Amino acid sequence: MAYIEPAPIKDKENPFESMMSRFDIAAKCLGLDDEVYNVLKSPVKQVIVNLPITMDDGSVQVFEGYRVIHSNILGPSKGGIRYDMDVHLDEVKALAAWMTWKCAVVDIPYGGAKGGIICNPRNMSPGEIERLTRAYTGALVEIFGPDRDIPAPDMGTGPREMAWLMDEYSRAQGMTVNAVVTGKPLVLGGSLGRTEATGRGVMITALAAMEKLKINPYHAKVAVQGFGNVGSWAATLLEERGASVVAVSDISGAYYNDSGIDINKAIEYRNANNGSLEGFKGAEKIAGDDLLTLNLDVLVPAAKEDVITVHNADQIKAKLIVEGANGPTSAKADALLNDKGIMAVPDILANAGGVTVSYFEWVQNRLGYKWTADRVSRRSDRIMKDAFNNVFKTSQEYNVSLRIAAYIVAIDKVAKTYKFRGRF
Ligand code: GLU
Repeated sequence: MAYIEPAPIKDKENPFESMMSRFDIAAKCLGLDDEVYNVLKSPVKQVIVNLPITMDDGSVQVFEGYRVIHSNILGPSKGGIRYDMDVHLDEVKALAAWMTWKCAVVDIPYGGAKGGIICNPRNMSPGEIERLTRAYTGALVEIFGPDRDIPAPDMGTGPREMAWLMDEYSRAQGMTVNAVVTGKPLVLGGSLGRTEATGRGVMITALAAMEKLKINPYHAKVAVQGFGNVGSWAATLLEERGASVVAVSDISGAYYNDSGIDINKAIEYRNANNGSLEGFKGAEKIAGDDLLTLNLDVLVPAAKEDVITVHNADQIKAKLIVEGANGPTSAKADALLNDKGIMAVPDILANAGGVTVSYFEWVQNRLGYKWTADRVSRRSDRIMKDAFNNVFKTSQEYNVSLRIAAYIVAIDKVAKTYKFRGRF
């Protein structure tokens, strides 16, 4: 029998524990009391639903879905819905908590939540995805609501799924309730600027951090891991601001061109090629993981959790990491990056542009009014810059990394709100 090389042991940390280990450090810095600590360490609600769906071939498949509300102290809970085979409860719990911290860091009046369904949307027909989305919404109709819990897109979902969700929820209420979900198509009350919002926030915080590190964007080499909505918009906007995007990657591999990839061409290619960069001619193909350890100024992980780990953190050469994804750096890798003096703009700050414009969408829906693209981007850029400066100042005050500083800012806000609101 041929010897099979064992798969390398990954430091796949439990994502919730990974979130908690940062929370613990920040809570200590703040001197958070046990009462508030105990309230914030667990989600307020966790719902698991079983969804029997008729597939196109007539068979019935049962899907498992989740919605976790981590906190609703600051306002209705907010957070996306993920369709992916790797979805599991601990991941959804971590992502829900990150939403609480994210909304608090950018100072918008929301708590945090997240949802997910274990499924592979790439292997499902639009009809199957629609039935699944409607069944999920129907099962959670008591949880969702514009003043309760407001979903949005995440990995594997987009405006199309949000439209179905809005429609199904509205049918149950007997009236159109567009503020129940954000990230909708424009005609249904979506906001201008929502599609590019997360990538735009990544660009804004990247430029703010580059200024601190005295990296001139016009001479900066950037690599972006993940070429979905967040990664491709971050790449486009950083290129627009003068940076040279030397590498991008997706599920098919990584693509490297030392003199800079033409991002528009890459996007056009991806769109015409079933969403994949496979076969893209504007760059040389390299192994996916090699993108992370290239000679770079800025690395933007914009794909999934746990890609920067103890196994590769010491090989990273970028001066700056800007986290477009949620949880791309494992908690154990934090110390290695700090030792190397690599600045990391953490996920709960760097990718908060998406939920910020989701907030604007909800505000517009409730006002029954539409803002111009210019108003949306001016206001969201201001929020992202202010949040970056606040976190930066806090990191200096407490002498901690930007990540711990962001947790400090967020936990402090939530803890103060909790204290003012009182308890049973
Ligand atoms: N799923 C996105 C995130 O992780 C957006 C959430 C939202 O807009 O509510 O931030």
